[in-house]
Amino acid sequence: MIIVMKDKQAAQTVVTQAKSFQLNHVYRFENRVGFADIKNSAALSFINQDDVIEIIAEHPAAMQVSRTFHPNDTMIQTAHSQIGGDNFNLIAGPDAIESAEHVLAMGKSAKAAGATILRGGSYKPRTNPYSFQGLGEQGLKWHRIAADTLGMDMMTEVMSPADVDLVGQYTDIFQIGTRNMQNFALLKAVGQQDKPVLLKRGMSATVDEWLSAAEYIASEGNTQIMLMERGIRSFDQKYLRNTMDVSVIPVLRELTHLPILADPSHAAGVAEHVTATGLAAVAAGAQGLMIEIHDQPTKALVDGKQALTPEQMVSLFEKAQAIHDIVR
Ligand code: PEP
Repeated sequence: MIIVMKDKQAAQTVVTQAKSFQLNHVYRFENRVGFADIKNSAALSFINQDDVIEIIAEHPAAMQVSRTFHPNDTMIQTAHSQIGGDNFNLIAGPDAIESAEHVLAMGKSAKAAGATILRGGSYKPRTNPYSFQGLGEQGLKWHRIAADTLGMDMMTEVMSPADVDLVGQYTDIFQIGTRNMQNFALLKAVGQQDKPVLLKRGMSATVDEWLSAAEYIASEGNTQIMLMERGIRSFDQKYLRNTMDVSVIPVLRELTHLPILADPSHAAGVAEHVTATGLAAVAAGAQGLMIEIHDQPTKALVDGKQALTPEQMVSLFEKAQAIHDIVR
């Protein structure tokens, strides 16, 4: 429920009163006060009715991440990147950390192409339990060393609340993968620490489900969240691993202040279509791209089919930057 008060001061009085009545989840922007968990205005009888301009029963389910109470873009500052607003961020690296030398070499190429964030999984969410599951902590160590050597931010996936502390000892940015977008225990756990979180869209998630997942993180106190469209399940899996939902990008830019990035590697599923898919996402307003790279894609331990070579990445990033400059 949103109460529109006659002015900012009256709205702030409502917030103070609400706190004294132990009402939680109360947000204010200008003269608007949002109550995330109140459905009946009778619970708000303490408000001076003479100061109320309007009561709006419908409100965004995910209040903290909505522009309704935070119109300006969220900017996320890390050691080497500023994500959000008019900035355009490039994230690249191997799908999985394979060795110390390999992640360093891929990081070097990524940085030379303009990336500031070095991705790579050490805990891999694999469909088949017998597939390579990642190197675990050894991979985190190699990844950290590569990022520090190159002056890049490290980003890696965390799959379980039990791993948040360990992964947090190494990473700069937590990645929550598509399969865990609604792992609420995990969302709460990353919400209780203060490093930024990249939240990928669940492969069948609606916009409201995705924003509510982000709200889980914000509701625990961590608002350093970025969203990543990575393709949704569609009906043509013969030709498309996933379908990049390009149209969701402007929708999100309107609904939320969080940075919106895109992962064309997982959307396209094959290297040949990663560039076109990524450029379409940038044209639609994505504020950054994440690309998987490998110097020998056929030998990659995970998802080699969708890996770009470092040379292909350079060409994509140049075009992406040019498109971003036009559309921003
Ligand atoms: C990844 O980026 O390594 C990954 C597994 O992506 P997704 O969760 O989108 O499948």
